[in-house]
Amino acid sequence: MTNTKYDAVVVGSGPNGLSAAIVLRQAGLSVLLIEGKPTIGGGLRSASLTLPGYIHDVCSAIHPFAVFSPLFNSLPLQKHGLEFLYSPLALAHPFDDGSAAELEHDIHQTAMSLGADTRSYEHLMQNTMKNWPAVSNSIAHPFAFPKHLIPLARFGSKGIFSARRLIERNFKGMQARGMLAGVAAHGVQPLTNWITGAITLIFLCLGHDKGWPFPKGGSQQLANALASYFLSLGGRIETDWMVESLDELPNASAYLLDITPKQLLKIGGSRLSAWNRRQMKNFKYGSGVFKVDWALDGPIPFKSDACKKAATVHLGNSFEEIMKCEQEVSLGKIPEYPFVLLAQQSLFDPTRAPQDRQVAWAYCHVPANSGVDMTERIEKQVERFAPGFRDRILSKHVFDAVEMESYNPNYVGGDIGGGIQNWKQLITRPALRFPPYRTSAQGVYLCSSSTPPGGGVHGLCGFNAAKQALKDIFGQR
Ligand SMILES: Cc1cc2nc3c(=O)[nH]c(=O)nc-3n(C[C@H](O)[C@H](O)[C@H](O)COP(=O)(O)OP(=O)(O)OC[C@H]3O[C@@H](n4cnc5c(N)ncnc54)[C@H](O)[C@@H]3O)c2cc1C
Repeated sequence: MTNTKYDAVVVGSGPNGLSAAIVLRQAGLSVLLIEGKPTIGGGLRSASLTLPGYIHDVCSAIHPFAVFSPLFNSLPLQKHGLEFLYSPLALAHPFDDGSAAELEHDIHQTAMSLGADTRSYEHLMQNTMKNWPAVSNSIAHPFAFPKHLIPLARFGSKGIFSARRLIERNFKGMQARGMLAGVAAHGVQPLTNWITGAITLIFLCLGHDKGWPFPKGGSQQLANALASYFLSLGGRIETDWMVESLDELPNASAYLLDITPKQLLKIGGSRLSAWNRRQMKNFKYGSGVFKVDWALDGPIPFKSDACKKAATVHLGNSFEEIMKCEQEVSLGKIPEYPFVLLAQQSLFDPTRAPQDRQVAWAYCHVPANSGVDMTERIEKQVERFAPGFRDRILSKHVFDAVEMESYNPNYVGGDIGGGIQNWKQLITRPALRFPPYRTSAQGVYLCSSSTPPGGGVHGLCGFNAAKQALKDIFGQR
């Protein structure tokens, strides 16, 4: 602990904490960044979870939001060691018949993999991409008055409804329906929920715009580059300091907390007004995840060649299967055939594993707080599309939803999004209050993914919260 006085203290070094710290330091403030764990990065950490020499992304792996982020794009992160790598296909989605849908930068090439729906996909995505600049601007600056209302309205007219409606209205073939269902499932909620259509379109637009890349050497490299830049500006970082109460923090004018409402109640609940406390208690978390990392003695033997060209592979087969699975999870049931999100970064990044060896990363959705071991079910899904996969496993490491929260207290019940991102908590996260980053306690702000624009590695929650604090406390715009 330190007795020094700072202008601002940031608690938590996930992408949002790091971003908030950078924005505050860029504005000339003295800033201390505190991290509870021995290493920085939060959801960006990489570690050797299985065997020596194998680098696994403990949480996030694939970074379409990071390359889209106007904040990250404004920072000299390459000079601080960051390099993004791209696989030839952003995503492959295999089917039982051996075929696969392919998401790539080019809309036409993507559409060509979608059989009966080639023209429908081209039509949908060419029109949607016209609206994307306005939509992406609104994601980055959720509270700025939009300059281009018509493209936003056009996007909203499709996105406001469910993914199920989007898929059923536009597509009839197995390939397009399956691929869009897999993309929609990134929303970690039933595909029948409002605004899951928008989640689907956003992930597809990210793929067609900047792609779905991953950092060379592991996600940790993004955290390291952000931290290195922050330190180069004169910021200070202390690790291994799990904050138990706001009272233990050094004196500062502003406190920016990269934590979720549950933790805010624990470490600073007594500072909040009764109304704000109630709002934080009412915040809703979503389903959890079960995660597996493997060290492999060779590439995953996928039946489909497309899967060998994609860093991300979605394993869930059809629209109907994925719909059923996500519905079951939201009802608290364990799916027999989980929808599996798999990444095989080392195929395109040899720094991740010893020569001729590979790593793979996968997770599936499970009910919140589930302690059920999904390893067998996940491996069955991989084996279904890649017979012989199990024979390649040298070692594995698993995290159930409960262990996920022990690893990072922000993953409440295993929820990796910092709270469910449904229509109620889309921009009114953590509560219906304006600005959402400010709490009722003087100088205390939330800057985690529990604030807009929400989950994913983009740093924009931290950016917007820091801008708010600069305006409120330091009179800076
Ligand atoms: C399995 C998994 C897969 C994912 N895949 C992707 C993906 O591929 N792409 C993507 O964009 N996103 C992905 N995500 C989500 C992404 O990791 C999060 O959205 C992102 O990390 C949120 O950033 P954050 O800064 O808000 O919080 P976090 O990254 O969770 O960071 C919070 C930090 O605060 C620290 N902390 C918490 N409480 C305290 C305290 N009291 N005192 C001190 N420190 C504290 C924590 O230790 C942690 O370091 C994934 C997450 C998981 C778990």
